[in-house]
Amino acid sequence: MRFDVLTIFPAMIEGPLSTSIIGRARTAGLVTIATHDVRDYTDDKHRRVDDTPFGGGAGMVMNAQPFFATLREGLGLNEKDHDDAHIVLLTPQGQVFSQAKAAELAGKKRLVLLCGHYEGIDDRVRQTWVDEELSIGDYVLTGGELAALVVIDAVARLLPGVLGHEASSVEESFSDQLLEYPQYTRPAEFEGMTVPDVLLSGHHGRINNWRRQQSLVRTYKNRPDLLQGRCLSFQDGELLRA
Ligand code: SAM
Repeated sequence: MRFDVLTIFPAMIEGPLSTSIIGRARTAGLVTIATHDVRDYTDDKHRRVDDTPFGGGAGMVMNAQPFFATLREGLGLNEKDHDDAHIVLLTPQGQVFSQAKAAELAGKKRLVLLCGHYEGIDDRVRQTWVDEELSIGDYVLTGGELAALVVIDAVARLLPGVLGHEASSVEESFSDQLLEYPQYTRPAEFEGMTVPDVLLSGHHGRINNWRRQQSLVRTYKNRPDLLQGRCLSFQDGELLRA
């Protein structure tokens, strides 16, 4: 899968995505991530990419021209027909990003992520190019780069081969609309605190039941909204009551 990120701060993207699991996936050729400095495509002789808002008000608005030029010349895309490229605008006004959305986007061939700064991007970019607007939560960041990193990380880790152990992305929080059970590793006793006996029992049936119960309890306590409107199985109901 290929990701293209349009930004005026490529360094904010490159460093984090050259590290750890995503960095290894890039080296192994499992994902391609290209950053494009929108400033390289401005037709302003002083390399400016923003201007004051029409109608007045505080802050600066990013010009449409450098985004249009980056998409056309840098990425070779056409505004009327870019079927192979799904273009996403990162904005606090978008639909809130979720695990389900990450799974959906992992099915695309190419994701193009547009990062705004200041007061955002001239709306004609959205009107002309954007297939989808995504927000990473109900708060306002200084720029779209952190949001792009969140989307890339969450999508890339779902691609075949990116995580060492494929089950890691199947059995985890939000799969089956539940939070994951608590995890422990060696030593079995640490500063007087022990690991639940069942996890040391080697009895897979009991371990699975305990984990399911813990998932249900954690979800009920921390994120009851995930259980709303959901009909629990008789077995899950019993585990929750136990
Ligand atoms: N004036 C805009 C508004 O009120 O909707 C906010 C602009 S924000 C300061 C600058 C840029 O940061 C946005 O263009 C967007 O790319 C990015 N951004 C800020 N918060 C975000 C969020 N919650 N999710 C995704 N992108 C965000």
